[in-house]
Amino acid sequence: MFKLEMISNLEKMENKFDAIVVGTGISGGWAAKELTEKGLKTLVLERGRMINHIDDYHTANMDPWDFKGGDTITQEAYKRQPKQSRTGYVNTESSRHFFVDDMEHPYNDDENKFNWIRGYHVGGRSLTWGRHTYRLSEFDFEANLKDGIAVDWPIRYKDISPWYDYVEQYIGVQGRPEGLAQFPDGKFLKPFDLNVLENHMRKSIANNFNDGRILSNARTAHITEGTKPGLGRVTCQYRNRCMRGCPYGAYFSSNSSTLPAAEATGNMTLMPNSIVHEIIYDNDKKRATGVRVIDAENNQSYEYYAKVIFLCSSSIASTSILMQSKSNRFPNGMGNDSGELGHNLMDHHFQTGAYGTFEGFKNKTTYGRKPAGFFIPRFRNIGGITNRKDFIRGYGYQGGASRGSKSIANSKEELAAYGKKFKDIIVQEGEWSGSMGAFGEILPYHDNQMTLDYNKLDKWGLPTVTFNAKIRENEISMRKDMKQQAIEMLERSGFKNVTGTGSDNNYVFGNGIHEMGTARMGRDPKTSVLNGNNQIHSVKNVYVTDGACMTSSGNQNPSITYMALTARAVNHAVDELNKQNI
Ligand SMILES: Cc1cc2nc3c(=O)[nH]c(=O)nc-3n(C[C@H](O)[C@H](O)[C@H](O)COP(=O)(O)OP(=O)(O)OC[C@H]3O[C@@H](n4cnc5c(N)ncnc54)[C@H](O)[C@@H]3O)c2cc1C
Ligand code: SF4
Repeated sequence: MFKLEMISNLEKMENKFDAIVVGTGISGGWAAKELTEKGLKTLVLERGRMINHIDDYHTANMDPWDFKGGDTITQEAYKRQPKQSRTGYVNTESSRHFFVDDMEHPYNDDENKFNWIRGYHVGGRSLTWGRHTYRLSEFDFEANLKDGIAVDWPIRYKDISPWYDYVEQYIGVQGRPEGLAQFPDGKFLKPFDLNVLENHMRKSIANNFNDGRILSNARTAHITEGTKPGLGRVTCQYRNRCMRGCPYGAYFSSNSSTLPAAEATGNMTLMPNSIVHEIIYDNDKKRATGVRVIDAENNQSYEYYAKVIFLCSSSIASTSILMQSKSNRFPNGMGNDSGELGHNLMDHHFQTGAYGTFEGFKNKTTYGRKPAGFFIPRFRNIGGITNRKDFIRGYGYQGGASRGSKSIANSKEELAAYGKKFKDIIVQEGEWSGSMGAFGEILPYHDNQMTLDYNKLDKWGLPTVTFNAKIRENEISMRKDMKQQAIEMLERSGFKNVTGTGSDNNYVFGNGIHEMGTARMGRDPKTSVLNGNNQIHSVKNVYVTDGACMTSSGNQNPSITYMALTARAVNHAVDELNKQNI
């Protein structure tokens, strides 16, 4: 099996390329693959260390007892990663090496807490993402225009739909077609089966509500049949250890899929440990000519040049690079004629829902460790009786049902058991339970923003990011409904001990790990940063195709949209290069 090659310092002397891609996460991997497959000599710059597929997934086969203190968040993790720890699940011992050290990578969120959860290494968060993969729908692309909020998306569903097809077929997405306009179907592999209780919930919800809501299989980027291109990508083994990196390449990551494809063309030069901090602008040519980079290990500075630049370093980092790219033409940051750069920061608000226990199905259990549960697509504000007076937009639920092991706290005798007796107790099946949590749309408020603090520099002398964003009235009203409807669906499905979870008005921004919208797309350069092809309005050879481009957030997990927009933008860029327009 070949490894991705890094280039040596000597080779850094070669500094002219056809294209430069910044970042190797979900969007950067796609830009690298598409550009190199179209024949462009492409430099791919990544600020973090190298992660080779399989070889560098050192926890992939470890069991809880192989970790000191079990697979928990340790005191050391709390000390080094106090902000990454706020999620409560990403930086346990099996995966914490894929999340940044907050001491080394500080940011400021004194006014309103913001959880900026990220990993700096080759592959970015493509290694740790939850793999939920839902298309935006026409409802989402039309929403701002219809509601008179923020600015209109410059594209519609039909513009992105073929690119969703293209991406889904390449990465492998399992799912069940449902034929709902707000939940567009795609090119799916066969779905993971719902288990017996999840199937029961599907029937109960369909029979007990008259607003068309359904429970469907979660759609995720897992291979469930056949193989997909990349490094030995085969079907999922039901291990549910995805956040550690998958040795089977069974879920999509840049490391198993897009980067090896780019490498195979012979056109990619991949440089880890390369912090891009500025795009170079040529005032005479009115275009970008390259990027400035600091070597993360030895602090040396380099410049690299190319005809076209793809900024894919994730929403906050890409906007931060644009903000640092100051020139006479752009004193407030590249592409910031509108003053919108850094504004309209969005996420999905979540962590509210319900759980309960279920008394039936005592003769049934679950099979393996299925890495996906169910999804209940949006059923609010899509017309007729679904329309609400207390909030606009909508939310969808992710959840699952499972059967746990028997509790040992039932009697004094059980508590005192040890040896064979103890083993006999704990291998017995326990009770069924189920839970669901909603992900809701956050509106693009101008006042939710990120800025740069030049008084607080990081260890490379670069300004740190300051966040100031919070949820507002629309989200708070929506959260009440998110919790109430979860309770009702569990109760009407026969669950007992149903309990609502989460707070109505408290949500720490960023916790959804879907931060987006700080360099939005729009039709008018006066009110947006990017056009409908993801080009900076005023610097046509710079494309921003990560979440920074989002004009509204929808409620769907966003990464498939970044992938589709990236593939579409590369197609556009190569056309424009061929026509000598950029
Ligand atoms: C635990 C978790 C669960 C998630 N679940 C889902 C889900 O189910 N579905 C979904 O759609 N999304 C999910 N996400 C979000 C998803 O991971 C992101 O939307 C996606 O990775 C964004 O892609 P990206 O390319 O913009 O950024 P990333 O994947 O974060 O990649 C950015 C890359 O750029 C590099 N970089 C940053 N700054 C610079 C710089 N200055 N110079 C050079 N390189 C730089 C970074 O090191 C990184 O490698 C989840 C994320 C996490 C952490
Ligand atoms: S559950 Fe499937 S995708 Fe996840 S790590 Fe295991 S084999 Fe890979």
